[in-house]
Amino acid sequence: MERPIFKRVVLKLSGEALAGQQGYGIEADIIASIAQQVKEVVDLQVEVAIVVGGGNIWRGIAGSAKGIDRATADYMGMLATVMNSLALQDALETIGVPTRVQSSITMQQVAEPYIRRRAMRHLEKGRVVIFAAGTGNPFFSTDTTAALRAAEIEAEVILMAKNKVDGVYSADPFKDATAQKFETLTYLEVLNKNLGVMDSTASSLCMDNNIPLIVFSITESGNIKRVVLGEKIGTIVKG
Ligand code: UDP
Repeated sequence: MERPIFKRVVLKLSGEALAGQQGYGIEADIIASIAQQVKEVVDLQVEVAIVVGGGNIWRGIAGSAKGIDRATADYMGMLATVMNSLALQDALETIGVPTRVQSSITMQQVAEPYIRRRAMRHLEKGRVVIFAAGTGNPFFSTDTTAALRAAEIEAEVILMAKNKVDGVYSADPFKDATAQKFETLTYLEVLNKNLGVMDSTASSLCMDNNIPLIVFSITESGNIKRVVLGEKIGTIVKG
């Protein structure tokens, strides 16, 4: 019997991870393969909460660069994460994984409101909980949402699934041939070296609450399961 090293995890998926080659929107095949990877982990009795981003549809900062008020643009970004969350819920339920979406912006026709204790109860019952609409506040990111929700629901780790890189590098590996991949890092190093793993608000929150982070590639199928079984892939960031 395969033994997972974690009981409760927060999986952070960037919006881009759901997009296809064109880098925009939601690609059905990709979302189905992610759902399959999540199922493998749920089948190991691991409790999985997911925070999904919205960058494949809308990013607040890009909207504000076009002249939209930043807070308004951020609310639009949060709504984009709701669309991604519903798509992911659909893909998971299609393969028999019971799933609940909880939204930080009340939207009762499509999702439950975010209620911490209810989210934890769903997890205990083996349901995947998808946290939609970020923190519900502009000027934050879904990375910060992952850190916040992980602390709230007492998750042991944040699994940060990337679709372009397979860990944290000293420089952008697509631009700098000398870029080196780190096996382990501390949050202080991430902050001091400005490594861009996650924004500084999210890093600080993880650091202050002792939540480890594993950054890995989701493009190779089975990787979420590998991480959960303790295989050393990607980069581990600790306090
Ligand atoms: N956002 C926000 N508050 C939050 C989370 C997200 O305002 O708590 C907005 C913000 O505009 C952000 C967008 O939602 O650009 C999409 O989230 P994010 O950029 O984190 O998505 P990802 O890069 O992971 O796809």
